[in-house]
Parts: sequence; structure tokens; C-alpha cells
Amino acid sequence: MSPDTLKNLNIAVIGAGYAGATAALALGRLGAKVTIYEQAQEVKEVGAGIGLRPSTMDQFRKLGIFDAINAVTSPSDYFEILLAHGQRIAMEEWPEKEAFGATTHFVHRGDFIDTLLRVLPEGILKMNHRLASIIDNGDSATLTFENGVTVNADLVVGADGIRSQVRKHLFSDKAPVFAGEHAYRAVIPAADTFGMVDDGNLRMYVGRGTKIYLLPLLHRKEVSFDITCLATDSTPAPACDRDTLIGMLESFDERLVAITKGLDMRQVNLRAVYDIDPIPSWHSNAVVLIGDAAHAMLHHQGQGANSAVLDAGALADALAEAASVPAALAQFQADRKPVTDELQRLSRQGWSEDEINSVFPNQHQGEIGARS
Ligand SMILES: Cc1cc2nc3c(=O)[nH]c(=O)nc-3n(C[C@H](O)[C@H](O)[C@H](O)COP(=O)(O)OP(=O)(O)OC[C@H]3O[C@@H](n4cnc5c(N)ncnc54)[C@H](O)[C@@H]3O)c2cc1C
Repeated sequence: MSPDTLKNLNIAVIGAGYAGATAALALGRLGAKVTIYEQAQEVKEVGAGIGLRPSTMDQFRKLGIFDAINAVTSPSDYFEILLAHGQRIAMEEWPEKEAFGATTHFVHRGDFIDTLLRVLPEGILKMNHRLASIIDNGDSATLTFENGVTVNADLVVGADGIRSQVRKHLFSDKAPVFAGEHAYRAVIPAADTFGMVDDGNLRMYVGRGTKIYLLPLLHRKEVSFDITCLATDSTPAPACDRDTLIGMLESFDERLVAITKGLDMRQVNLRAVYDIDPIPSWHSNAVVLIGDAAHAMLHHQGQGANSAVLDAGALADALAEAASVPAALAQFQADRKPVTDELQRLSRQGWSEDEINSVFPNQHQGEIGARS
């Protein structure tokens, strides 16, 4: 689309998470008039870490914010997958380092969203706007917020997460799917982790349906410590109980058990784990879904936030290149949906013995506890 057409394009982004914030930045750089509407009074993230992949760091370079993101991260060379008691199953360099001229960087979720929101142009973020309904008018959409505000936009970007109202109203009212797992997450002092990830690399321990991720945040002298385990209670935020958690760690390296026993349970964030089934379409002629709203996936491949950022860049590229908004939205879906459909599928693999063999056929050197 021509710079003049883009300048007159009025875009409403719903949600100021990683997808919405990055999209607003990328679309604003095209010259469009962008406003983000966020339901919360203040954007806060839980204490946990994320690995920003080489392609994601490259996207930040294209958006001119590589240095700002780099400043709140630590680089990593590789990741390891180990059996519960410590036998290594796989050790891999982060893929695509050469192709994108950057490695994977670890970031605290709070630092990540703070940085994205800080680099947005002044005044484009409107807090306290919870979307209540959306009407698709064909070549525009009308949004109504719970605070009574009504807005018309030429293009609406639904970046409102796994329980997206935009998706529910226009594309699919299927509820998110419970994975039969709970995720316990905490950021703890590196000094409490027996030096297990002092080299700056990610380690994942797996056994009998439990997965423990240690993701070092060297720049903060902290480690993101995540335990994901099998569970039957689908309550989104269940009560946190140390004894239940320790019961899941039978046969794990005693250092991991000691770290868990030392956790301040008031600081531990516990969530039931959900994703969504792939939906047939992400867009009409005036509304498009991105990030978790389009393709929420389980966290086992660490690709949800990365996909959100890549969606934002791909949407801006499609609008810059296509002849019209509808053509751009169709192009965006054609570029991104096959990739995220596959990531949704892969992320449902639970690192059982067969699944590890299929991903790392030459490296599996030991046996792994079966999922019970
Ligand atoms: C346990 C766990 C570990 C994870 N680990 C990783 C990892 O290592 N790497 C990785 O890449 N990903 C990881 N993810 C996934 C990642 O967190 C998500 O994919 C990512 O947050 C999606 O970003 P988003 O912006 O699409 O959605 P969200 O972060 O959910 O943001 C949506 C925003 O929309 C707002 N909103 C919602 N409804 C409305 C409404 N009606 N009106 C206005 N605003 C609204 C919300 O308040 C929120 O600010 C993990 C997820 C979990 C649960």
C-alpha cells in the first residue's frame, strides 16, 4: 500500500501484550494512525523468563529496538534436555543463529513488556479499555468498550490473548483446551541454584510427566525456575501447595528437590496450562487476529511470545507490500498460519521417550520415565 494510503489508515489494536505492543510499534512505523486499547489499569507480567529466539531478535533489529531489548537480556549459546536424575539426552545450539546474526537472549517477562511499552510513541496506549463487543462492517469495524467508549477503525488487530473477545465474537467461540498440566513459575536468586545454569544456558529436566526448566537471567543474577507437571484440576489459577509439588519430583536430581523445598510459595505463580485448537481463519477484510488470540500454544517449545513478535512484523510487512488491507490480511495469514499450526501441534508433544526420539533421533542415550 502506498505511504499516503497507510497514513490515512486508522488502526485499533486490542491488547498491550507482546503481540499488541510489537504490532503497534511496527504499524506505527509504516505511518498508520495506531491506538492500543488495553483492559488493565497497569500492564504487569508474572515473574518468569522467556527465550527470545534469533528470528525474534532480528525482528527487533528491523524495528530499531535491538539495543533496548538487548540491554535487558542475557545471550545464550545452547540448551540441554536431561533426564530427571541428570543424564543428558540432548544438547543443541540454538537454531538459526547464523541466518539471523543473533543468538537466543533470555529476558524477564516484566522487563520485556516494560521495554516494548517504553519504546512506543507517546499517547497511543489507552489503559482501562476492556473490549465488550465488536461489529465487523465489512470495510471497517466498530468496537465498544466496557467503559462506554465506542470506536470505529479501518483495521482492528485482535491481540487480546488466549481468551480473546475478538476471536470469540467473529472467528471461533470454541473454548481454550486444558492440557492436563499445571505450571509453577518463580524467579529466584542464582545463588540458590547450585550453579546449575551459571554458564548462561537453558536446561530442561524431564521425568514421569514432570518438566523442570532452569532459564538463567545472568544480567539480573537470577534464574527463572519453572516446574510443569501433570494435574487434573483445570481451575485457571489453582491454590499453590508445596507438598503436592514436591510429590511430583520423585527421582529428580536432589539439587532440584532442594531448590523446590526452598521456594517462597507466596512468590510462586501457579497456572493451569491451556492452548487452543487451530482455528480455520484469522481474518475478515477489516479485522485480524495475532499472537495467542490467533494461535495460543503450550509453552513446551517456548514459541508463544516469539510467534507473537513475528506475527506483528509479518502483518506490517504484508500491509506495506499488498495493494489493499484485505489482500494484506490474506497474505499475512498465508505467511504465518502454516508455521503456527505446526508449532501448536509440536507444542502438544510432552517430551515422552518417543517424542524425544523423533525430535533428536541421534542423541537419545538413555531411557526416560514414561508419562503416567
Ligand atoms: C507457563 C508459560 C510459559 C511460557 N513460556 C514461554 C517461553 O519460554 N517462550 C515463549 O515464546 N512463550 C512462552 N509462553 C507463551 C507466551 O507467554 C504467550 O504466547 C504470549 O504472552 C502471548 O502474547 P500475546 O500478546 O499474544 O497475549 P497476552 O500476553 O496474553 O496479552 C494479551 C493482552 O490483551 C489484554 N486483553 C485481554 N482481553 C482484553 C479485552 N477484552 N480488552 C482489552 N484488552 C484485553 C490482556 O490484558 C493482555 O495485556 C509461555 C506461556 C506460559 C503460560
